[in-house]
Amino acid sequence: MRILILGPQGSGKGTQAKLIAKLHDVPHVATGDILRGAVAEGSELGQRVQPILERGDLVPDDLMVDLIRERLEDEHGFVLDGFPRTVPQAEALDAMLLEIEKPLDVVLLLEVSDDVAVDRLLQRGAEEHRPDDEPEAIRNRLRLYHGLTEPVVERYRSGGMLVSVDGEQTVDEVFGAIEDALKQVRPMGSDPLGSDPERVQSA
Ligand code: AMP
Repeated sequence: MRILILGPQGSGKGTQAKLIAKLHDVPHVATGDILRGAVAEGSELGQRVQPILERGDLVPDDLMVDLIRERLEDEHGFVLDGFPRTVPQAEALDAMLLEIEKPLDVVLLLEVSDDVAVDRLLQRGAEEHRPDDEPEAIRNRLRLYHGLTEPVVERYRSGGMLVSVDGEQTVDEVFGAIEDALKQVRPMGSDPLGSDPERVQSA
């Protein structure tokens, strides 16, 4: 399964992506986690992106596209979380997946209001001390989501790939709705006649 999960910060994307990854045995590729890991390591990438993350700004597209190309190149399945966040990133992702003939199976959107998102992020900030879960960075991140990432949502919606899920339900309820949606999805790239040779012959 190749799944993209979209939604504003605080929509529960990370939580749900981890649950999906575990159940379907695919890697959870979360760009925020990769970047925070680089910051914690103090690598060259980490030093470059640290101030950007702290402000809640976006890391430049070219850097993100290179990073994701390298990460996805050898994967057959994945749950992608945190990328793409801009239309140029989405265009690059679609082109890249087309080139390696591994298209997305589904794009999930977790919908929550800004009020719920802000409450959850402030709570996480208090618990986990993430510098970008401070009020000013939260405002900036949600502003960027509405301005730059919502057009990505619309891109996949108009492509008929988007399944919306109410992200204000409990974790279990959201996961149940996601699993229902995933059951409807036929893994793309698979043979439409199935892998059973008899079915192919009789078709
Ligand atoms: P997240 O954990 O997904 O909220 O990401 C944390 C921070 O990492 C974001 O606020 C951005 O600064 C940076 N980031 C993560 N993914 C991307 C991306 N696709 N494009 C640009 N910046 C990103």
